[in-house]
Amino acid sequence: MIGRAAPYLEGLNPAQREAVEALDGPVLMLAGAGTGKTKALTCRIAHLLASGRARPNEILSVTFTNKAAREMKQRIGSLMGEAVEGMPWLGTFHSICVKLLRRHAELVGLKSNFTILDTDDQLRLLKQLVAAENIDDKRWPPRMLASIIDGWKNKAWTPDTVPVAETAAYDGRGVPLYAAYQRRLKELNAVDFGDLLLHMVTIFQDHPDVLAQYQRWFRYILVDEYQDTNVAQYLWLRLLAQGHKNICCVGDDDQSIYGWRGAEVGNILKFEKDFEGAKVVRLEQNYRSTGHILGAASGVIAANKGRLGKELFTDAGDGEKVRLIGHWDGEEEARWIGDEIEAMQRGTRGRDSLSLDGMAILVRASHQMRAFEDRFLTIGLPYRVIGGPRFYERMEIRDAMAYFRLAVSQDDDLAFERIVNTPKRGLGDKAVQTIQRTARTNGVSLVEGARLCVQGGLIKGKGGANLAELVQGLDRWHRQLREESDTHVELAEMILDESGYTTMWQNDKTPEAPGRLENLKELVEALEQFENLQGFLEHVSLIMDNESEETEEKVTIMTLHAAKGLEFPAVFLPGWEDGLFPSQRSMDESGLKGLEEERRLAYVGITRAEEVCTISFAGNRRVYGQWQSQMPSRFIDELPEAHVEVLTPSGLYGSTGGGMDLPQSDLPNRAASADGYNSPGWRRMQSRMDRRPMSQPSEARNLTIDAQAVSSFTEGDRVFHQKFGYGEVMEIEGDKLLIEFDKAGTKRVVGKFVVGAGQ
Ligand code: ATP
Ligand code: MG
Repeated sequence: MIGRAAPYLEGLNPAQREAVEALDGPVLMLAGAGTGKTKALTCRIAHLLASGRARPNEILSVTFTNKAAREMKQRIGSLMGEAVEGMPWLGTFHSICVKLLRRHAELVGLKSNFTILDTDDQLRLLKQLVAAENIDDKRWPPRMLASIIDGWKNKAWTPDTVPVAETAAYDGRGVPLYAAYQRRLKELNAVDFGDLLLHMVTIFQDHPDVLAQYQRWFRYILVDEYQDTNVAQYLWLRLLAQGHKNICCVGDDDQSIYGWRGAEVGNILKFEKDFEGAKVVRLEQNYRSTGHILGAASGVIAANKGRLGKELFTDAGDGEKVRLIGHWDGEEEARWIGDEIEAMQRGTRGRDSLSLDGMAILVRASHQMRAFEDRFLTIGLPYRVIGGPRFYERMEIRDAMAYFRLAVSQDDDLAFERIVNTPKRGLGDKAVQTIQRTARTNGVSLVEGARLCVQGGLIKGKGGANLAELVQGLDRWHRQLREESDTHVELAEMILDESGYTTMWQNDKTPEAPGRLENLKELVEALEQFENLQGFLEHVSLIMDNESEETEEKVTIMTLHAAKGLEFPAVFLPGWEDGLFPSQRSMDESGLKGLEEERRLAYVGITRAEEVCTISFAGNRRVYGQWQSQMPSRFIDELPEAHVEVLTPSGLYGSTGGGMDLPQSDLPNRAASADGYNSPGWRRMQSRMDRRPMSQPSEARNLTIDAQAVSSFTEGDRVFHQKFGYGEVMEIEGDKLLIEFDKAGTKRVVGKFVVGAGQ
């Protein structure tokens, strides 16, 4: 046994220590932000290991993100003074379940090398099923079906167990389509994200012997961020913990922010009922933030009803007040924040200089990131984006990954569909249909179908010859992978070269092409950190964030959702405007559920800050190329005045003598801020806005806006549309173009409103 003086126990307060030392039986730590829940959980693992209660592989420990899992491993290592070997079961629900499912795939009719589909593949598959049913997909968009099915999976409902009350979903066809989708996934030897848990719950429920094995195996179970577990995750945990009941969950009902994804805050509230005799530990001292920051956060969350209600205190002193500032528009906001970050890095106004790593911009919606990325690129401020539009979601990366997936498994029909005509091989829709038909009639994969088409000469001309070459290539890469005649990195490069994919981008004259080639290079570099291609593909399909491991200091830009559990000395919270934060959807909803979740998100945001917290809003914002005037967020009114300092922007407008000198006292409560809108400052802002050239977004200035005939476009052209911004031509049909816009999705638009962007 470890003595009382174990170093990792020394820094804990009595309540934390109680939770750490109560190793057997159920423990719940229910406490506010920054009170050291994660720290206690980490110490508990160290204690389990150091006291010899459990070996690393006997501890099942669930974190919310991969990043959190990595950090926890590091922290355990430093607590114990040695690197921990193993801990194979410390990770996210998804990463743990994928490992388990590979071992038992056959119990749910899958092979152990199943593919994990991302949301894009999932949607493509659903579209096909919906089309086959002759459903009007305008009225019943497949996306809607995807979210219905996700919701059911989160509740651990299989097609057979969806309750009767739900059967009206998707025009009464939801359940049969769900069943068809599951059948199709099995045929493809594939799963989606929701399946990882759903299948494991099914296996545990149907195979008591398998469950019993893991109940013995995982002797201790620990769960961070328990308030955000969904029903499937909850069932899975409960099944595993049923035997020994050595389960320790930590969470905060005020930080439940994934209700929209099926999380049930009720799970944490009924823990005591599920696990009788549970020890409940409450923590009240916040070690993260200074007093004003904590006061502001508490003031906001107090407006929510039905909370458990927790009082937090800090010994850290009052510190600086939360800073509030209004800007002319989103670009100005980004400019100001960029300047402010540089000033903080230098160290100003009595503040010590801060490292860029210690600063974060937390946005409500990922489209807000663009303004910051643009600005920081301009001024050369290093930044990293976590979450949001991710590296691995970019088109060229997904194409390349599809090739890699096919090298691993020729059964991967979705990957084949993606690359069969990328680069262009003269294989149009008709040729692809022939391949699909051949595959279906013969009951084989698309690659096999393609092989049969080649052998039977079913596809004529250049397309046929190219297809033959593709099939040969796929066979060769598959063989090389099996024989390990080259390293997987060399093989990856070979695939990209021999398939013509790299050449396609080298010959591409659009402004994005060089960046895409860079990304492909980055992809190959990323491969080096993995033992083989399959391990890499798995990693990518599970990845939640794309932070690089580089050593250079960087500002972090991420969504509020992704920031859960993290902390930074300085936090910027931009875009506090009604319709953006809280989101329009939550405001339109009847009832307060959505709005309360947004408010918890505000609480999460403010409580990420240790020393400096800056909230901002803009009077105008451009959304998909259109200007909108904005109202300050209702959450701003809820910030207690005593904890807030209102700043006047000294930038472009403030310094020229006019500008938006919002009177200081006007902001913290809504009545006053309404007056603020009538203030001379605000009126000046309005008139500036009226004078602003709205019709031409700034990116368009460099473009040649001469009327271009539709016929001058070809598929793949990079274009700009006045309303929807940048995009790529997918199809040309008469005077209409089908364009995949970067921000606005796929739309059919009239050609004369489109101009070419770049060569
Ligand atoms: P959140 O709800 O945001 O996830 P949390 O409750 O998990 O917060 P931690 O991240 O564990 O809180 O801790 C917040 C900060 O307080 C960390 O920097 C941690 O190292 C520090 N801390 C926690 N407990 C103590 C303690 N007893 N003494 C000193 N510092 C502590
Ligand atoms: Mg935590």
